[in-house]
Amino acid sequence: MESSTHSTADFGRLVWISDDVDGFVAARITDITHNGFQLTTESTNQTVTRRYEETFACEEDPTKSVEDNCALVHLNEATLLNNCRLRYANGKIYTYVANILISINPYQLIDNLYSSETIKEYRGKSLGQKEPHIFAIADKAYREMRRNKTSQSIIVSGESGAGKTESQKAVLKYLCENWGAEAGPIQQRLLETNPILEAFGNAKTLRNNNSSRFGKFVQIHFSDSGSVAGGFISHYLLETSRVCRQSSGERNYHIFYQLIAGASPDLYEKLRLAPANKFNYLKHGATMFFVNSKSSLKIASDRFSETDTVSDSIISDIDDFAKLEKALGLSGLGNSEKMFIWSTIAGILHLGNIEFEENSNDSRGGCRITGDTENSLMSASELLGLEPEELRMGLCARIMQATKGGVKGTLIRVPLKAYEAAAGRDALAKAIYSKLFDWLVAQINKSIPFEKSSAYIGVLDVAGFEYFAVNSFEQFCINFCNEKLQHFFNERILKQEQEMYESEGLNIQKIEFSDNQDCIELFEKKPSGLFDLLDEEAKLPRATFQHFTQRAHESNKGHFRLDAPRKSKVKSHREMRDDEGLLIRHYAGTVCYETRYFVEKNNDQLQNSLEMLIEQSSFPLIVALFQNESSTGAVKTGGRLKAVSVGAKFKSQLSSLLDKLNNTGTHFVRCVKPNSQMKAWQFDGSAILGQLQCAGMASVLRLMQEGFPSRTSFSDLYSMYEKSLPPSLARLDPRMFSKCLFRALGLDSHDFQFGNTKVFFRAGKFAEFDQMMKQD
Ligand code: ATP
Ligand code: MG
Repeated sequence: MESSTHSTADFGRLVWISDDVDGFVAARITDITHNGFQLTTESTNQTVTRRYEETFACEEDPTKSVEDNCALVHLNEATLLNNCRLRYANGKIYTYVANILISINPYQLIDNLYSSETIKEYRGKSLGQKEPHIFAIADKAYREMRRNKTSQSIIVSGESGAGKTESQKAVLKYLCENWGAEAGPIQQRLLETNPILEAFGNAKTLRNNNSSRFGKFVQIHFSDSGSVAGGFISHYLLETSRVCRQSSGERNYHIFYQLIAGASPDLYEKLRLAPANKFNYLKHGATMFFVNSKSSLKIASDRFSETDTVSDSIISDIDDFAKLEKALGLSGLGNSEKMFIWSTIAGILHLGNIEFEENSNDSRGGCRITGDTENSLMSASELLGLEPEELRMGLCARIMQATKGGVKGTLIRVPLKAYEAAAGRDALAKAIYSKLFDWLVAQINKSIPFEKSSAYIGVLDVAGFEYFAVNSFEQFCINFCNEKLQHFFNERILKQEQEMYESEGLNIQKIEFSDNQDCIELFEKKPSGLFDLLDEEAKLPRATFQHFTQRAHESNKGHFRLDAPRKSKVKSHREMRDDEGLLIRHYAGTVCYETRYFVEKNNDQLQNSLEMLIEQSSFPLIVALFQNESSTGAVKTGGRLKAVSVGAKFKSQLSSLLDKLNNTGTHFVRCVKPNSQMKAWQFDGSAILGQLQCAGMASVLRLMQEGFPSRTSFSDLYSMYEKSLPPSLARLDPRMFSKCLFRALGLDSHDFQFGNTKVFFRAGKFAEFDQMMKQD
């Protein structure tokens, strides 16, 4: 709160003060000191002191909740948190802040919340006519698409487990149920794609049993007549490291467990499957299986025992396998293609079991496959359509081309050390898996084509800002993406709001918001941006992460956003030298990145010998996976294919996504995870506050508080109240009508302003006005 305005009149006033557990607690002012307040907390009766700027204004009645936060008189982080808390305690997960929807995960299915009856109720209703709901946002997007004849996007954000994917599914369901009837099978396919995407792209993590490990933008296309005409899915940055390694307590992608649990006995035998703890790519993570109380199929006891199972309300490996099979069929894949998918997945598992040892008989210091794992070599070869001897050679040696005097010579075989061969094996497994994922998305897209599309509604579901004890290249990319989206949010909500005030002729002070353009440039500017430096490093004969890190610091000396890791005040579990990490000040907080695997992770190209090996597969589909240009991220330059790094590919995908977003009307949904134990209806104030801050809500609230967050056009106001007024007033044109009405009511001119086409109300004032009109 402002310091200049305090006096003894403040004594006894209730304010919000920050609290480590609840985010904020209410306290009463008992004294004013030279730089702050002395207060007594309401619930625990403790005396505390706080600086003025650490306290937030509180509503007269802090137990009153509102559907749209802008109906409150004081708009700040504390009143928003309190409002959300009150609503959540009443079983209401949705709250508006003007047009932005906040959604707090209930971790429990709420009766009727997404039923067909509810869908009908929201159809055609303006925001605010009914309780806040994700359906209301979907409906608004649809109406604006129809009215403005422009495509729309719904940007869903939030941290892992906050409910982004569930929100996205609800939007798709709403749009398809309302306007999909004519589309028939297309609608079916759009909804049926989820089991496929989730089987191959979702995994159990410590934060979410069904965590999406890739980003997606799902577009639903509409025809001129406004009915669903098709769809298209774009995907971003699948986390491939999970295929070979998982942190303790986490799982690999669901598909591996689904296949083991759900394969028919014949298929199980054919694929030489075994319990999860028999596979290296599964056994280091959690080897449990998900079951559902409603599981319709019996668990085969030789595949896993009762003690290996965990119950989840939505996930069941056996049932989900059956759903997946059905969904693949609906997407147009026949039995042979399904068999190809199963055998590729099993092939990856067997590949992971191949182990290497140094070969003492090899004078060139090479390695060999251990005798115990020869069987795995056989199984992997068979399931991937490779000759076992070719696979053996491909894994144990690297093929290089000798050059003499600049002229390329013969191919030579360089034997590999055991650890190098193991790294090549993992690279091969990851490459096959990610190409399979690309191929599956392409198949889905083929099965839901769109013709005669006049506009679309796209729903974006990408991981929110991430900050762990150790942060690597994955977090680096995700957080860059969030910087870009935050910038877009600022542009849209904050800049546009101010521009509207200007165009309406309202005289309102410019509100400063923290611009993060400099952070975006740190990542992407040429040539000293971090992505470019990383690509440059890879071209050096002896690329090292330390050299990259040093160059990053040297090239960006004095950059406000970048610092050396030792400047970090946050205790990371590992001490880092300055050439081992980057400390980046993001809009949502400072993150220390460990750069150790940056160079490798930025390069997903297979070494030549493995690529050549795949080209020799007797399965045309395996060969085809690697030939799809767009999936490899390679670009054609002068007739040759040039490899594109993971970072460069992601950067270009993001820039085309932002181009799309810039050309659409946008709607924001901020999802919030209420607690880290995934417990139903438990509201951890402090953690929730952190998420609201990361979502950029503080500057939105400041803007709304200083501006006029509720507004109605003169004509809407006229039609809303015309009936309740004397005919003499109702005869006036809408603008005059509004002016006379406001004068007649004796409204305080501080509380509203007339623009050129609309009347604007201060926070909380529209509700008061509406109340007055209803009483009259
Ligand atoms: P990630 O970034 O890890 O993919 P997410 O934000 O997509 O996370 P979801 O998978 O949508 O999170 O939600 C996590 C879990 O929370 C769901 O599996 C479900 O159990 C529960 N959940 C989310 N939203 C709802 C909801 N509206 N109603 C009931 N349960 C929900
Ligand atoms: Mg998700």
